[in-house]
Amino acid sequence: MSTDHTDGFATRAIHAGQSPDPLTGAVVPPIYQVSTYAQDGVGGLRSGYEYSRSANPTRTALETALADLEHGDRGFAFASGLAAEDTLLRAVLRPGDHVVVPDDAYGGTYRLIARVLGGWQVDHTPARLTDAAAVAAAIQPGRTRLVWVETPTNPLLRVSDIAALSKVAHRAGALLVVDNTFATPYLQTPLTLGADVVVHSTTKYVGGHSDVVGGALVTAPDATLPGGRTGPTGTTSLADAVGFLHNAAGAVAGPFDAWLTLRGLRTLAVRMERHQTNALAVAQFLAGHPGVTSVHYPGLPDDPGHAVAARQMRGFGGIVSLRVGSSERARALCAATRLFTLAESLGGVESLIELPAAMTHASVAGSALEVPDDLVRLSVGIEDVDDLLDDLATALAGL
Ligand SMILES: *Cc1c(COP(=O)(O)O)cnc(C)c1O
Repeated sequence: MSTDHTDGFATRAIHAGQSPDPLTGAVVPPIYQVSTYAQDGVGGLRSGYEYSRSANPTRTALETALADLEHGDRGFAFASGLAAEDTLLRAVLRPGDHVVVPDDAYGGTYRLIARVLGGWQVDHTPARLTDAAAVAAAIQPGRTRLVWVETPTNPLLRVSDIAALSKVAHRAGALLVVDNTFATPYLQTPLTLGADVVVHSTTKYVGGHSDVVGGALVTAPDATLPGGRTGPTGTTSLADAVGFLHNAAGAVAGPFDAWLTLRGLRTLAVRMERHQTNALAVAQFLAGHPGVTSVHYPGLPDDPGHAVAARQMRGFGGIVSLRVGSSERARALCAATRLFTLAESLGGVESLIELPAAMTHASVAGSALEVPDDLVRLSVGIEDVDDLLDDLATALAGL
């Protein structure tokens, strides 16, 4: 079964890379739980498979589907989102290089760049990504090799203009990477807006069921390494450099994890539709509640990110954050809900609530990325929306 780009998203999510198994006709790609492959004479590989760190058919199916959905050239599946980020950063950067990072972002991304790569002489500057001029000012010509974009951001849901930022980055000879975890390729395809590479924590919406940790990179067709550099395989291709390190450092997704992630990916379109219908209802309810001091959700018409999100996204996603006036009230709210489970992570079918300052974003305390201590983040699940609204109403009433 083949797909082409005239097929819609939901069709490609179910069919791209997922032809029936040639041997048995199995309609979904089997879990190839295997480390090595028989060779027909030395170097006589069947279908190119040699050793499962280098490639595995279940992982190939996931990588092919993700590359297709992101309108990319090649996809790479990793053991976690941070493993994907680490591979990208080390494939592109050298000691002395500089990265522009968001002033609001997933805490682990900042920790990786500041505290791991910082030790290898990679510098960074946080910038407000909603302001293209501020990003341009943060760039150090000749040293900045990457501009890291997260949109919408975690946890403040700020929205930045990918096309505008890609021009700023490219003018300076830097690559633009977009963390597309919150939007997913269903709502936003950064490579079609000028980004060079997309990164995912597939742990979140792509997997979608809170049962697997994983990550992915998808490179744009013709993306090259910055600064005219040649990678370890002797080409200037970004995908070649990433592919080399994927195998050479080996932080790959295992077959069962790849299979679970692909199982989730097939229903991404219908899940995202329900996530965002529920999230909008939750955001509207919170915006009218006297116990809530502010709501962050790009789907609200008066949200600062609304206009850009409406232009570059197909919908506004399933994450809502709110402020309640004090850290004590925020902690009490997190402890008071019945259906929203207090837990890190997001993007699963079940609703979650968390306190970023003490949980997901504890690692950015004291940095430019520090988040307000009365901020509560909701990952709005796909339960019946009236039950979710009742749960929040009751919890807020009890504060
Ligand atoms: C969770 C997350 C990551 C990190 O992914 P892991 O799978 O936890 O390693 C990166 N970016 C964003 C936006 C995330 O939410």
